[in-house]
Amino acid sequence: MTDPAIEILRPDLPRGGYKAVLFDFDGTLSLIREGWHRIMVAMCVEALQSTGTSEVEAELARLSEDFVMALNGQPAIFQMVRLAEEVQRRGGTPNSPGVYLAEYDRRLGVVIQRRSREILDSVVSHERWAVPGSHGILQALSRRGLKLYLASGTQLRFVRPEAELLQLSSFFGTEMNAPDDNDATFSKRGVIERILKKNNLRGEELLSFGDGVVETEEVRRVGGTAVAVASDETPGDINRWKRDRLVPAGADVVIADYRGYEELLARLLGE
Ligand SMILES: [Mg+2]
Repeated sequence: MTDPAIEILRPDLPRGGYKAVLFDFDGTLSLIREGWHRIMVAMCVEALQSTGTSEVEAELARLSEDFVMALNGQPAIFQMVRLAEEVQRRGGTPNSPGVYLAEYDRRLGVVIQRRSREILDSVVSHERWAVPGSHGILQALSRRGLKLYLASGTQLRFVRPEAELLQLSSFFGTEMNAPDDNDATFSKRGVIERILKKNNLRGEELLSFGDGVVETEEVRRVGGTAVAVASDETPGDINRWKRDRLVPAGADVVIADYRGYEELLARLLGE
């Protein structure tokens, strides 16, 4: 089945009037952490197998994928807490969630390092690990005088260098919002409220792009327009799993990536 390039879900979609545009980072602009869930699921399966359980690998993979994806959007430690519980339930002696998390970060770090190296050594272009059309839409939005904001749940110490590597930093200047190491107070809701207040904007003047349920719900809550980026590892395909969660979260529009950004902006901005 081929998906429409731009799926409009809100019939009375506003046209124009936007003053600020908010972007999520991972999965929305950056693909450098793409495949993180496979790494996490593989690690969970290994830990569960080590308990000597009679369940076959496919069953353990399904179980792990279910809880990994259901808890996605919260800090990763919550997934590791659940892993420890599942190990215990099978009679194993679990590691502490923090130990599991450190191992997951280490494994994902290896992949990120390899991708970074390829860009730094010019083996691949920086665009290889950005959602297709990212640079084009960001340029088009800033050309129109719209102020761009980044908000990510990933730690700032990772977001900064990864955005720099993908040549995305300059679009956001100082507006790269992400939690510092131990900042439990960071929230996308908080970022959105600050943007509106600081610029004296109404919610309807906010446009957002994200592949997560959290940002979609928060932007709709204040009356903004939420474009869901259901990015998939196969470029151009809608990721159905993401789409089917973003639509109930309130997505106004669903796209796979930004390659059709001219048409998308024409519709959104009423040009
Ligand atoms: Mg994301």
